[in-house]
Amino acid sequence: MNNPVQESQEQTTPWTILLYYKYVSIPNPEQFAYEHLKFCKSIGIKGRILIANNGINGTVGGPKEITDQYVQHMKSNSLFADMEIKQSLGPTTSFKKIFVRYREELVTMKYKKQLDPNKEAGTYIEPKELNSLYESNEDFVIIDMRNDYEAAIGRFKNAITLPMQNFKQLPEIVEKELMKYKDKKVVTYCTGGIRCETATALLKDKGFKDVYQLHGGVHVYGQEFPDDYWEGKLYVFDERIAVPINTPENRKILSNCVHCQTPCDDYINCTNVQCNKQITICPDCRIKWNDGCSEDCSKKPRPSTVRT
Ligand SMILES: [Zn+2]
Ligand SMILES: [Zn+2]
Repeated sequence: MNNPVQESQEQTTPWTILLYYKYVSIPNPEQFAYEHLKFCKSIGIKGRILIANNGINGTVGGPKEITDQYVQHMKSNSLFADMEIKQSLGPTTSFKKIFVRYREELVTMKYKKQLDPNKEAGTYIEPKELNSLYESNEDFVIIDMRNDYEAAIGRFKNAITLPMQNFKQLPEIVEKELMKYKDKKVVTYCTGGIRCETATALLKDKGFKDVYQLHGGVHVYGQEFPDDYWEGKLYVFDERIAVPINTPENRKILSNCVHCQTPCDDYINCTNVQCNKQITICPDCRIKWNDGCSEDCSKKPRPSTVRT
């Protein structure tokens, strides 16, 4: 007789997800990207990797045997031997394909000069130090360095969020929104830490004096302290769209359904492919509005029926 427990465990064995970045000068990055893609395909790992002249950034996943092979491969390369690779568990549907792309710069920002995070970034603050700061009487501001749609479904308590749709806009937004904090103690955070490397270098270049960045980002903080000062979900740039951080019994929902305003933090893309806007929409409204963001969009045929 089959053992149903055993069977269901086999079917749901989660993937190991790796998240990493390093600012380092990569010689012949385009060639490296080409070879790295070949390697990834040979072991069967899935996800997204960005390779630039000034570094690497990746989120990849697969069964543990495969991610272990990947980690070993990276550690054997002297450029990445000391790179921190964060591991977590995720569903087996996290990534469908592997993308390895070359881009000129790791994190793109419209600014008058090139900043070197290895020399100019803010000081790391660890998750437990951030908790101590919250619990102290010290005056500080915590700034969310992510885009507005990311902060909408999850953010740190009392965080300042920015009207930003793309990280490229950060220099103008700092100028408009953040200069009033330049003499305060400032802590920044982002998903896994990479954007804060550049963001804190920018703040310091703008004259901010006391600048810290959350080491490992929300990703690491949430693994250590799921229910302390983080509220809501963590937006991610892959098929998962958002991952829970809070434990189910302490779950907080910060956003609302676009149509009926009930608390909801499930993102989908609007059914109208020409619109494709990302919206939070509740199960009832998904049916009522045919997965559309507006009256107009809800009348458009679904993508799967476009050609019929
Ligand atoms: Zn609704
Ligand atoms: Zn729409």
